[in-house]
Amino acid sequence: MSSESGASSAFTIERGTPPPFGALRRWIARVLPPLGANHLWAVQLVVTELATNAYEHGAGPVRVTWSVTDRPCSVLLEVQDDGEDRPVAGPPASVRPRGRGLVLVGDLSREWGVRPEERGKTVWARIDCGAPMIDACSARAEPIIMDPEPC
Ligand SMILES: [Zn+2]
Repeated sequence: MSSESGASSAFTIERGTPPPFGALRRWIARVLPPLGANHLWAVQLVVTELATNAYEHGAGPVRVTWSVTDRPCSVLLEVQDDGEDRPVAGPPASVRPRGRGLVLVGDLSREWGVRPEERGKTVWARIDCGAPMIDACSARAEPIIMDPEPC
């Protein structure tokens, strides 16, 4: 049996303040069920890339929501903003940070896409770890809290 949980909490990034990406990574680690370190690491990288894209190229508040499927272990991230333009992934050699970020998202996600909303869009990504169930994922290692300081 598979069950989903989540979507009840959201992380919102408002305009006009320094974007709190460190706080976003701590939030996602706190609200998700326990994951193995590698899975959590991938989720934190992807959520940072999606939120950065939405903040730098979108409009209005950036709203991050999530849900988890426990069998198999899988995390769905959704990042919504009011911007109308669609993100486009560039080649890895691209000098555009935006394109590079989405290539990373594509590498770490089983699938990702863009869904038009009544206002703006939602960019979503599903990150699997290959574990048959979430308990197996969480048993692999203690979750780590990734919070690198900008250098
Ligand atoms: Zn997992």
